[in-house]
Amino acid sequence: MKRFVARCTPWGTVQTGDYFLRLTDSEKSAVLAHERAHVRNRDALKRLWWVVSLRVVFDPQWVFARCRGQEFAADQYVKQRGMAAGMRSFLRRFPQPASALHPGSKERLEALDG
Ligand SMILES: [Zn+2]
Repeated sequence: MKRFVARCTPWGTVQTGDYFLRLTDSEKSAVLAHERAHVRNRDALKRLWWVVSLRVVFDPQWVFARCRGQEFAADQYVKQRGMAAGMRSFLRRFPQPASALHPGSKERLEALDG
């Protein structure tokens, strides 16, 4: 079972999981645009490098800040493409808590509206 909505890979593809089917069409478009932004920015590759180079061990706060920044940047890409409504709907219907690596839905909604 693929217990996720969507994700990008270090080799530049987007994978959808089982939860992707629960989204509306506008939410799917927004989520796919968010993942495409990660691919365009090579975010997964950067994260892999930060692990391989051990930066995450020696400077974790720097890595956490960059990962969180990647998420906000991907959401801004969605907004610039005119799909912010779909992203807002997704974030409200499937709220996610914040973590060291990932901003929570509340922060992402505030950033989208800012
Ligand atoms: Zn993301």
